[in-house]
Amino acid sequence: MTFITRFAPSPTGPLHLGHAYSAIISHDMARRKGGKFYVRIEDLDQSRSKKKWENQIFEDLDWLGLSWDGPIVRQSEELEKYKNILTNFKNELGLFECFCSRKDIKLALSAPHIDDKFLGPDGLVYPGTCRENIVSSKINFNNVLRMKVNLGEEKIFTFNELGQKKGKISFTLSEFLKTIGDVVLWRKSYPAYHLACVIDDAHQNITHVVRGMDLFEATKIHTVLNTYFGFHKPFYYHHKLICDENGKRLAKRDDSKSIQKYRLEGFKPSEVRAMIGF
Ligand SMILES: [Zn+2]
Repeated sequence: MTFITRFAPSPTGPLHLGHAYSAIISHDMARRKGGKFYVRIEDLDQSRSKKKWENQIFEDLDWLGLSWDGPIVRQSEELEKYKNILTNFKNELGLFECFCSRKDIKLALSAPHIDDKFLGPDGLVYPGTCRENIVSSKINFNNVLRMKVNLGEEKIFTFNELGQKKGKISFTLSEFLKTIGDVVLWRKSYPAYHLACVIDDAHQNITHVVRGMDLFEATKIHTVLNTYFGFHKPFYYHHKLICDENGKRLAKRDDSKSIQKYRLEGFKPSEVRAMIGF
C-alpha cells in the first residue's frame, strides 16, 4: 500500500507558520516512506475563497522546498460527488432537515431540562429540535442537513492516533451524542467541512492524516462517518499547534506570521523552517 499524506488548506488568507509546520511534517513523512504528498484546496466557502490565495499557497509551499503530487483536488469542483454520497447514505445517516438559527439552538440549550451546554467540535451540541424532519424522499440541497445520531445501535468507535495522544482512541455513540451531537453535513449550498474532508480523504486514499491538535475531537466525527460510509480508516497524526510569543495559537488572519511576509522581508526558507523547529 502506498503511504499517502495530504495538506488541505483553505484559500481564504495567507499561509502562516502554523500551516508551514503542518505541511512540512506531512510532506516529510510521505517522502521518507517513498509515498505521495497531496495538496487539497478546501474552497467550499466560495464567498471567502480567492484564487489569489490559492496561487500564493503553491508559491509558499514551493519556496519552503516542498514538492507535491498531482492531481490537485479543489473541493468546489466536486459538489456532485458529495451530493451523491449523501443521497446514497441518507437512511444510514438518518439525514434530517434543520431550520434552526444559532439563536434558536442557544435558546433550546438554555431550557431547564438540558444541563450540559457544551461546545463540541461541530459547535453547540444540537438539542435535537428538528429531528423529526427526516428526509424520506429526494434531498433538498437548499436546506441545512444534519445526521441523526442513532443510539439504537450503540457501539464503540476507534481511531488510531500517532501524534501527541498516541494510541487507540475509543468512544461510544452515546458519548458522541452528548459531546458532539447531530452533526451538520450540508450547509444550504455546500457540504460541511467534516463531510467533504472524510469523502476526499477516502477518495484520495489518504493513509495518514496529518493536522493540528485543534482537529483532534473532530476526528470522532470523521471516524463515525467513515464507518457509516464503509471507507478505510486512515491513521491520524495530530501535531502541536504553533503559537505566537504570547502563547496564543496563530489565527488565519495573523498576517504578521505569514510566510509571504517573511519572504518579502528577505528571510531564507531555512530560517523560516528553523523558527518552527526544522
Ligand atoms: Zn433544527
